[in-house]
Amino acid sequence: MAEPVLLWLRQDLRLHDQPALVAAAHDGPVIPVYVLDDEAPGAWATGAAQRWWLHHSLESLGGALEAKESRLILRRGDAVRELTRLCEETGAARIHAIRHYEPWWREAEAALGDRLCLHDGNHLAPVEEVTTGSGGLFKVYSAFWKALSQRMPPDDPLPVPRSIPAPLRWPKSERLADWGLLPTSPDWATGFDIWTPGEDAARARAEAFADDVAAYDHDRNLPSIDGSSRLSPRLRFGEISPRDVWHIVGGGGTATTYRKELAWRDFARGVILDRPDYGKANGRERYDALKWRRSPKDLAAWQRGRTGYPIVDAGMRQLWATGWMHNRVRMIAASFLVKHLLIDWRHGERWFWDTLVDADYGNNAVNWQWVAGTGIDANMWSRIMAPLVQSEKFDAAGYIREWVPELAGLPDAAIHDPEGNGGRPDDYPEPIIGHREARERALAAGRAVR
Ligand code: FAD
Repeated sequence: MAEPVLLWLRQDLRLHDQPALVAAAHDGPVIPVYVLDDEAPGAWATGAAQRWWLHHSLESLGGALEAKESRLILRRGDAVRELTRLCEETGAARIHAIRHYEPWWREAEAALGDRLCLHDGNHLAPVEEVTTGSGGLFKVYSAFWKALSQRMPPDDPLPVPRSIPAPLRWPKSERLADWGLLPTSPDWATGFDIWTPGEDAARARAEAFADDVAAYDHDRNLPSIDGSSRLSPRLRFGEISPRDVWHIVGGGGTATTYRKELAWRDFARGVILDRPDYGKANGRERYDALKWRRSPKDLAAWQRGRTGYPIVDAGMRQLWATGWMHNRVRMIAASFLVKHLLIDWRHGERWFWDTLVDADYGNNAVNWQWVAGTGIDANMWSRIMAPLVQSEKFDAAGYIREWVPELAGLPDAAIHDPEGNGGRPDDYPEPIIGHREARERALAAGRAVR
């Protein structure tokens, strides 16, 4: 029998449109492996909410592989060391994997050398190929979209291989249950039961969203309704590929806005390819001089949803309870931390990293730096979102009622600004800072770095 090959699975936990699986299945008996690597230097270790998702997604993938008479081998430790060890144990000659762009994965890929065969498949188009006229990566999203859209639609997704050849002998696997990925006491993930991780659920969600995509342009901005696809954790873990999402959601011209959002994910990958430290370094260096406030108390109030700004608090509580936050509210809450509280965006990035089920190095950094104004493509620093105006404009009354029960009894007119309307109940905090005062302070801080 031919020597086996490893299939190294990371943020691509699926069987459909899995080019590395297809290539491996043509190359020899396949040993699918997932390495829980919390050791890579500089790695953003998998956050707590992601670990919850990962547990269930691996469970689901293991089941899908078993249905194909294959298995998922689990190992824990430095990915390069574990894969090298597995090659020695099994006699595997090659490792097939989908290419990823997080700096720690690029380092691991380089260290594995010639035995690693990389395949594109987690983006609408190979990230290195969408370039400016002079061959560089795009720094501005709108120009990126123009170039990417000329290559669209993406290639057709690949089917699941009819069979996955198995090796004569399977190497040992660790037990998922021993990894302790799920919270125990206290179990903060009870509200995560809105999610069903795994490939089948991801595909079902994309199919269901296809019926709603025409309304997305309008509905996506309204946090009170379920107007977006909620595919982000599924794309983060690669339970579905963006090519598949594009083709399943369909929608022709009515899906343009949706496709443009999906393309942000590809754009973000180009940014971290160009600037691997984007998760911790300002895109515009002049912001290195910005005088951030250090206030653990204000940071904690923001994290816990106790700022006294209902729309911000609703978002932060939705995040804590479910591992996800509506995009419009992410922007408002992020802007509030950076501009109103003048707290370094990196504190927000870290909190989101730990609490989001869709936490994604590129998407998180690009969006935080966009909102903060520190990014290479970013909002101007002087653009300071007014949370109360945003809350009214995007009709967030129902959303606030759902996530801030102390305010549930207030009428729509008072709920966005209970303090200003004399309706603040005793158990809800007064605003941590007035909007006008915060705005002046932020503008002054911005002027000082120019
Ligand atoms: P939809 O609106 O249905 O969009 C479809 C898909 O397109 C998403 O699943 C996502 O993969 C992609 N997408 C949409 N908007 C963006 C965007 N602005 N940037 C990059 N990709 C996008 N998204 C993450 O996936 N991970 C993160 O860690 C993350 N952190 C964020 C931090 C901040 C401060 C902000 C403002 C936004 C962040 N986003 C992040 C982007 C966006 O909020 C989420 O992708 C979106 O809310 C997910 O919900 P959805 O799947 O219903 O999105």
